[in-house]
Amino acid sequence: MLAGHFGVAGIIKAWRPALPMGALLVATQLPDLVFLPLAALGVESGEPAGPGLSGYGSLLITAEYSHALVGNLVLALLVGGLTHVFLRDRWGRDAGVVLGGTVFGHWLLDLLVHRPDLVVLPGGAGGLPLLGLGLWESPAVAAVVEGALVLAGALLYSWRTLRDHPSRARAQLYSAGVGLILVGSFLFDLL
Ligand SMILES: [Zn+2]
Repeated sequence: MLAGHFGVAGIIKAWRPALPMGALLVATQLPDLVFLPLAALGVESGEPAGPGLSGYGSLLITAEYSHALVGNLVLALLVGGLTHVFLRDRWGRDAGVVLGGTVFGHWLLDLLVHRPDLVVLPGGAGGLPLLGLGLWESPAVAAVVEGALVLAGALLYSWRTLRDHPSRARAQLYSAGVGLILVGSFLFDLL
């Protein structure tokens, strides 16, 4: 799920336009941005959840550091705290709360779709039960949910940008760019 998280960024941008879209795009993907180098190093991985499974929603993900519940809470608090201290004058009084919540929203959305493969403590410490509501086990339903997030994100972002931006040509350019990112990443997820 790449596109669904980007969709959330579009929705939050429409709700809190003072937050830069670039910061929201990064915030919604932060745990996956930690996952990628760890996966390259072989510390974390994604494998088919069972024999014969492939394509959309087929992965069982081992991400005991980038996607640990407690680690993600700490990450969200860190991003929220730093935003509050350094950027609230530019991005708004509640920017820290919104951006921190956006970071943790990634884990919540992953919780919905992942099979039970999310650990509570980093490294799976304590052997606590694995979490995941497993919507990916019904790929068609998961794709509809993710598609709805993509559509809502693209439409709300475009609506707000076209309404508020002083330059109409630029607003159209931004809307087209974000639409391309959202739809492109959704096709990437599906294929
Ligand atoms: Zn993730």
